[in-house]
Amino acid sequence: MKVIVKKNYGSSQIELEIEAQDVKEALFKGAIFTIKDQCNLCNSTDISLDGNKTEEGHTYLKRRCGKCGATSTLGTYKTGGAYFWKKFEKYQTKQEGAPPPEKSNYDTDLPF
Ligand SMILES: [Zn+2]
Repeated sequence: MKVIVKKNYGSSQIELEIEAQDVKEALFKGAIFTIKDQCNLCNSTDISLDGNKTEEGHTYLKRRCGKCGATSTLGTYKTGGAYFWKKFEKYQTKQEGAPPPEKSNYDTDLPF
């Protein structure tokens, strides 16, 4: 049994094939993609996919809110192999922060 899911994220459309033993199992695994992508912090629907890989090889898939920058990480149920989206939240770590503004060429003292 195969279920094909088409989903829009930002300006892209992704198409997924979900293979499972029967219809119920396939829909169970695909249910995650029927959830409305809306930020629970600012209610924006400007959501795109993002992710990162750790040094240990773990892959984290995230939805990122284009308005407030909050992210929602994909979680896995302990049994059944299905996924769920965690709530949107903002991280306060320095790594996630905006890069320092570029220094202007015009604010240094000219040598004359
Ligand atoms: Zn937001």
